[in-house]
Amino acid sequence: MLKSHYMTKGKFPIDRFLQLRTPFYYYDMELLRATLEAIRLEASRHEGFCVHYAVKANANPKVLRAIRQAGLGADCVSGGEIEASLRAGFPASKIVYAGVGKSDWEINLGLDHDIFCFNVESIPELEVINELAATKGQVARVAFRLNPNVGAHTHANITTGLAENKFGIAMRDMEMVIARAAQMKNVKCVGLHFHIGSQILDMGDFQALCNRINDLQLQLERHHIILEHINVGGGLGVDYQHPNRVPLPDFKAYFDTYARQLKLRPGQTLHFELGRAVVAQMGSLITRTLYIKEGAVKKFCIVDAGFTDLIRPALYQAYHKIENISSDEALDTYDVVGPICESTDVFAKQTDLNRTHRGDLIAIRSAGAYGEIMASCYNCRPLPHGYTSDELL
Ligand SMILES: *Cc1c(COP(=O)(O)O)cnc(C)c1O
Repeated sequence: MLKSHYMTKGKFPIDRFLQLRTPFYYYDMELLRATLEAIRLEASRHEGFCVHYAVKANANPKVLRAIRQAGLGADCVSGGEIEASLRAGFPASKIVYAGVGKSDWEINLGLDHDIFCFNVESIPELEVINELAATKGQVARVAFRLNPNVGAHTHANITTGLAENKFGIAMRDMEMVIARAAQMKNVKCVGLHFHIGSQILDMGDFQALCNRINDLQLQLERHHIILEHINVGGGLGVDYQHPNRVPLPDFKAYFDTYARQLKLRPGQTLHFELGRAVVAQMGSLITRTLYIKEGAVKKFCIVDAGFTDLIRPALYQAYHKIENISSDEALDTYDVVGPICESTDVFAKQTDLNRTHRGDLIAIRSAGAYGEIMASCYNCRPLPHGYTSDELL
């Protein structure tokens, strides 16, 4: 019976799962490595493409190490992420650091390790980096994160590239900030940085970003400015509906869009910062059914995972495919809910599962990105453990 699950419901070592305390994250390293290989293959078709991994999607040390081994750089948004990346073996020369609110210790950490680039989001931040670098007798490489005012067709809470968002520097200030940096002794402007949002599946959004960057580059050229690097951020989405049928994002379409639409200058490198697309599909949150409760109007499948373990459904109304990996019985309809004392602690409403009983294992799929890393201890719950298939198979 369990054999068929292995075929149709993803590859889960159910016998091993039954010995573990739930809930926990399970990372399919074979799929992660296949994903990394697809990225390498599709990016390497194009001259000057460099791919970084956005550490904030999943900073599990075992996952980070596999990504580093595949040769990606690291895109960090905090000092803690810089430390996690260094611990996982990423060379400082492949670490970029973005964020609207970098504190002094975080900037100093980046300087001490001489990271590849600070993605700067304001003039006051530029001044502080220049000052701190001067104290250390260093010259910090910086890129300016511009707000391209390009909307992404994704959830409103995860667009970042609109003029109203807190991120980046306004386009009209581009030349001014580059001129300011040129006057400073301890920073060197090496590029422009962009990031328009997350879970983007419409290549037209990336194309709009390319058009914007092409215009900005022409504008800079009129002032005889050619920068070494263009960084277009991340944002490529995954198929949350069909993790079995579409385990790999369309990296070919993604990189080809940039290759076709973005006019790089000779010698310019193009940097990417992919998070979700690298790790979402390889992760599942595995949870046990505690009770089936027949409510007045519906059936509840009460599981031992809650939004402390996976907050995306509560935070963004995000959809995750849910499977009962212990049952082959006929389908029935459930609200799948957690034990936390909040009404938003719901993973899915009116979803079909094979008929479910106490003790059945439930897989909440496509949970490798923004899952374990966003876990909290609310209700004094323990943090979920992350197991890899390398450990369990
Ligand atoms: C979050 C983030 C990313 C990664 O976004 P994904 O949608 O996970 O690919 C890349 N760059 C920056 C600056 C980010 O903040």
